[in-house]
Amino acid sequence: MKKLKPETAALHAECAPGDPHRPSSTPLYQTATFRQESPDESGEYDYSRSGNPTRAVLETRLAELEHAAHGFAFSSGMAAISTVLRLLKQGDCVLGASDLYGGTFRLFEKICAHQGIRTAYADASRPEDFESALKKHRPRLVWIETPSNPRLRITDLRWLSGLCRRSGALLAVDNTCLSPVLQNPLLLGADLVIHSATKHLGGHSDLTAGSVCVNSGDLASELRFLQNAEGSALAPFDSWLLLRGLKTLHLRVRQQQKNAEKLAHYLNHSRTLFGVLKSVHYPGLDQFQGWETHYSQASGAGTLIGIETGSLPLSLELARNLRLFPVSVSFGGLQSSLCLPNRMSHASTPEPIRIQDPIPGDWLRLSIGIEDTDDLIDDFSHALERTAESLIRKSARAG
Ligand SMILES: *Cc1c(COP(=O)(O)O)cnc(C)c1O
Repeated sequence: MKKLKPETAALHAECAPGDPHRPSSTPLYQTATFRQESPDESGEYDYSRSGNPTRAVLETRLAELEHAAHGFAFSSGMAAISTVLRLLKQGDCVLGASDLYGGTFRLFEKICAHQGIRTAYADASRPEDFESALKKHRPRLVWIETPSNPRLRITDLRWLSGLCRRSGALLAVDNTCLSPVLQNPLLLGADLVIHSATKHLGGHSDLTAGSVCVNSGDLASELRFLQNAEGSALAPFDSWLLLRGLKTLHLRVRQQQKNAEKLAHYLNHSRTLFGVLKSVHYPGLDQFQGWETHYSQASGAGTLIGIETGSLPLSLELARNLRLFPVSVSFGGLQSSLCLPNRMSHASTPEPIRIQDPIPGDWLRLSIGIEDTDDLIDDFSHALERTAESLIRKSARAG
């Protein structure tokens, strides 16, 4: 028989290994400890920080989604990232892309750098720049996002994984933006894949969680050690919630992406109609920079759209005029939302990095949900019209 597609395999996989009642849904093992036969005999589980049956099923699902040999669940995306950085020793260097999640920059600069880890950044969407930074800094770990959050910059994963392998660096890819439904970096040569499961994997904006997936047995045993030693693993109830979210991951991402594609085309088309939008960034648009590379490694354009209006007041006005895009950080949830990364999700980016490669102040990041497509387009159509009217009124008053 042909190999099952991930969405089919996930639904038919063993959901409660060893459970005599054979439930159809993974039970929540809400327990801290497990009884032992005697002080010198322990079963598969003894303490939930070290291992818990609900989390174990989740970690298997997470690994399967990324075509990985091993998966690990953490209490947040940041806990996952922090654990990976623990693989470095004093004096090692982490080379990051210059467009990363704000919290990642903060961790690198305000925690890792103070513990003797060297940090450096270069634009990974410009191969020559990144390659010379790699030669200069000789990193032990390279950290990228593609598409990056929020600027949707594209990095060629096959090229970068080859480069990292030749220079002895581990390649970590934060795959949060697309989810494993649309891109699997381990298949393209990455060593570690990280997710903020708070976003698409959970999908319901009701938990924070993170994951790391690897193929290497050595990396897996180091990660397993760290997860237990530092106590950063995901709790049983959150593991259970995340398992529930994963059951509809493929459906959700497909509908969100379908909406995002239609809305991005509409917004791009309406640039000349209303004169409010200066640029629309979406990997599915023809003029998108990195289009070819993106589609050589991912199967879709994703659920995030970036728009620029040319000025912060105009972006704020547009945000006010939208009804179906509540202002909120995070993305990947069922409900559409909107964020101004410069002031919100990326406000924690330390000063030197903000100055080096600043996120435009007017940049709006749209997270597209599962609503009816036409409702989303209608909402934008009204908001753009109202914003354009107020622009005309203002210029009339000024004139
Ligand atoms: C949100 C996010 C994180 C951090 O994850 P948390 O679950 O909020 O800790 C890391 N990377 C990216 C790309 C993110 O969007």
